[in-house]
Amino acid sequence: METQAVLHTKQAVIRREHAIQVKVPLPFPLRWVNAYLLRGGDGWTLIDPGLRTAAAEALWTQALAELGIGWRDIDRIVLTHHHPDHYGLAGWFQERTGAPVLLSGTGLEQVKLLWGEGEPMTARLLELFRRHGMPEEQLAPMREHMDSFVPLVSPQPEVTVIARGERIRLGAAEYEALEMPGHAAGHLCFYRREEEVVFCGDHVLPQISPNVSYLPGVDENPLASYLASLDSVRTLPVRMAYPGHREPFSRFGERAAELIRHHGERLETMLAMAASPKTAYDVCREAFGDKLSLHQLRFALSETIAHLIWLREAGRAAEETGADGATVLYRRR
Ligand SMILES: [Zn+2]
Ligand SMILES: [Zn+2]
Repeated sequence: METQAVLHTKQAVIRREHAIQVKVPLPFPLRWVNAYLLRGGDGWTLIDPGLRTAAAEALWTQALAELGIGWRDIDRIVLTHHHPDHYGLAGWFQERTGAPVLLSGTGLEQVKLLWGEGEPMTARLLELFRRHGMPEEQLAPMREHMDSFVPLVSPQPEVTVIARGERIRLGAAEYEALEMPGHAAGHLCFYRREEEVVFCGDHVLPQISPNVSYLPGVDENPLASYLASLDSVRTLPVRMAYPGHREPFSRFGERAAELIRHHGERLETMLAMAASPKTAYDVCREAFGDKLSLHQLRFALSETIAHLIWLREAGRAAEETGADGATVLYRRR
């Protein structure tokens, strides 16, 4: 992991119309994740506290002191989704605040698969990568890489499940919890129709195309789920969107439409690459290059598999077994 720039509270804490935005540092090229604080009558709601690192803990300690918010003033911690950059500090905050941590039921299932007893997803993911052509010499460091996330999401919080379609209080206002799967299973966007405001997590991001990963046994066609979720928010009236990364933005529906087009183009590119039979790993290297860090490779390969599965399900690509009897190949039909 690269060294992370320490964010000073002057740049990291920004008062916005509907919330205080806190840029929590990340040791990845994404650089920061946005947490949001919303003031309520009795206490503050904290959305997506960030990844647990020493730099993030230091920033929070300083930011809350400067804002005059005590640990016990935070009365709920709400998560858009379970990814470590959003969920990681939830348990750390729960220890200090005693506040409930709210997450979708599907999100909680993912947490158990990823970092619960025996971390079952790690073995499944490595097996998936092997079948899709990842060389053995990359599989061992990939396991280490997966394991390296455990301290970044520890301690694990006690989770209270947000029911489907539930209205949820954020600060002083009621929001609808809209389930938008694709980037993450069980991903929620919190939408307030009266003000046309959405806390959209990583469902729609400005400038960045949110990753769409195939994970074994979770969603058999995550790109189809993602495109449907994007389509369902294209015409949602939104005046201001508060995303998980980068800055708040207003062109929410347009950005959703752009992301749909982006995936349409990527599907065509990958289909062209599969003119001759190829593994997902080979398509991934061709599409994303061979200078990826392990972290980037993991997401690039999972994303490539998600696209090839979409093409297979659409009848545009065929899946076949390679000469070794184990490796999966894709070929344009
Ligand atoms: Zn995410
Ligand atoms: Zn994120």
